Amino acid sequence: MAVERDANKRERRMIEIGGGCQCGAVRYTLAGRRAVYACHCRECQRQSGSAFALSLPVPRDQLALTGALAVWTRAADSGARSECSFCVVCGTRVHHASTTSPDWVTIKAGTLDDTRDLLPFAHLWVRSRQPWVVLDPAVARFDTQPADLAGWRQQVVALPTDQPLAARQAAVHKGE
Ligand SMILES: [Zn+2]
Ligand SMILES: [Zn+2]
Repeated sequence: MAVERDANKRERRMIEIGGGCQCGAVRYTLAGRRAVYACHCRECQRQSGSAFALSLPVPRDQLALTGALAVWTRAADSGARSECSFCVVCGTRVHHASTTSPDWVTIKAGTLDDTRDLLPFAHLWVRSRQPWVVLDPAVARFDTQPADLAGWRQQVVALPTDQPLAARQAAVHKGE
């Protein structure tokens, strides 16, 4: 079980990462890993004005945020309410949260200061992806989304990011 102990040791060495909105009025830091997934659903396409969204789930208590956010709430497919927070000055969407898991938020990963190496560990709502988006066959994909999205998110965020990609992907696929 030396491997597990090693993994735990690495997990404790979490680095602080920063991000913010387009105008700079909202800034945040979070202690954690940069585990992101891509969502190709129509809502994410509309919200981002792009082909897909990149989401970074993080426990709310690990997020330190300054600046004024406004919240717009919409009904999600699951029946939950999705709380969408954006900068009151420039309108950049900063994070989403679901009423089913109020202790978690998903950061819009494009707002990170450093967006290099944002490799999605899974693709959701692949059935509505843009046809020119070519997916790595090694990366988990869901036709729609995991049945227990909140539970799945928490499970995959707990995976050590320094595991080989194949091992992480195998764990992610368990959510299917
Ligand atoms: Zn702003
Ligand atoms: Zn989506």
